[in-house]
Amino acid sequence: MTIDIIIAYVKRYEFGHEKDFVPPITGIHLAAITPKKHTVRVFHQQVDSIDLDTTADLIALSFFSGFAPSAFDLAREFKRKGKTVIAGGPHVTFNVEESLGHFDAIVTGEAESAWGELLRDMEHGDLKRLYSGRPCDMKDLPTPRYDLLSNKFFIKKVMQATRGCPFTCSFCTVPTLNPGFRLRPVEDVIRDAAYDNFPYWWQRKVVWFWDDNLTINRKYIQALLTELKPLKKWWLTQASLDIAKDDKLLDLMRDSGCIGVFLGIESFDKESLADAHKRQNRIEHYKTAVAAIHKRGIAVMAGFIAGFDHDTPESIEEMADRIMEIGIDVPFLSVMTPFRGTPIYHELKKEDRMLDKGWEFYNGYNVAFKPKRMSPEELLLSHRVLWKRSFSVWYSLRRILRGLLTLRFGAMCLSLFMNSFYMLKRIRRNYPVDMNKQAVAHWKEYVPVETMLYV
Ligand code: SF4
Repeated sequence: MTIDIIIAYVKRYEFGHEKDFVPPITGIHLAAITPKKHTVRVFHQQVDSIDLDTTADLIALSFFSGFAPSAFDLAREFKRKGKTVIAGGPHVTFNVEESLGHFDAIVTGEAESAWGELLRDMEHGDLKRLYSGRPCDMKDLPTPRYDLLSNKFFIKKVMQATRGCPFTCSFCTVPTLNPGFRLRPVEDVIRDAAYDNFPYWWQRKVVWFWDDNLTINRKYIQALLTELKPLKKWWLTQASLDIAKDDKLLDLMRDSGCIGVFLGIESFDKESLADAHKRQNRIEHYKTAVAAIHKRGIAVMAGFIAGFDHDTPESIEEMADRIMEIGIDVPFLSVMTPFRGTPIYHELKKEDRMLDKGWEFYNGYNVAFKPKRMSPEELLLSHRVLWKRSFSVWYSLRRILRGLLTLRFGAMCLSLFMNSFYMLKRIRRNYPVDMNKQAVAHWKEYVPVETMLYV
């Protein structure tokens, strides 16, 4: 069989993303676990033109809720052309009934355990409607098919060493989507990290761990980083704030080439953190935690959310200054998004606070619920003020300069590159898309130009 795997996308900025840093791992991982007798192509709608005239026997779509409108349209178009279209991923997992209406078959949960069976059924003309994936044991996973990735992605070596997270933040789908905490054998991860068949030195040098919380099992991370050290890579990952208290781990992270960690800081309000079940975050420790990571020359990227129940427009706008005060190198600023499958969705639903909005409002930059202490419009506006202030020329240059003076070379490049990227967006007014901006919200305006054919 020939299979086209498509990772759907809808632009999140007015003029598009402009530079495409890093791909998700889903498509190239699914391609890698596909039996060799099949021919696979992987398309990322973010950068690739979708081949609507494909001769593929099977179209497999993966997407999160914010990109669902585009995935549904692609499915409709491919089905019109007589193709069999299946889908998986977080949106499908938590919206089974709706998804069955759009696709010939769906896979819920993790795909590894169901993918082989689905392909066999497809070959025998016996495709079922629903396949339920079980949590994968992470053993013997092959190297992702990096060879199928477009060179438009700046970084290509993406991988996972672990899956799952022991925390239960109220807005996060990970605890339900990837239950438990599972580890890949260290030697498998090192084999993938050593893969170097890329055209550019930085694609060979940088390893991007798409883990939910890579550092949580200390014994494992120490073993992994000890083996990673001789490869002399630069690596980045997501971790929780507790790493800042572990000097031994931070030293090992530095010695093994860590250039950046992403921390989910989320809020400067104690009650909001309690609401979010983010018990691991202590506001009074933010600054010292960031300083401890900086001491090793590692850049700190951090996520912040606007729209907790204790937030006001003022507290959201003030976050721009507080983010600077605690020394974050690259902030990621999103609007609270009540994804299906999260505790916060169930709470808002119970309180009748969900707005009747399309899935395009679930892209992390729009409002799909009624905030408690402001209107949805005020939340959106205050988020945009926060975004514009944070990426103003003054704040961006200050972060770049601080990085030049304090970070190791790879981390400094990261800070320079990412802050310039967002600052240029700010200067050019390439703001996060407001899906309300037209009388009738029209997400199709935000599908990459190359794939406009089908709208
Ligand atoms: S720590 Fe991160 S990955 Fe873990 S539940 Fe919270 S938001 Fe999700």
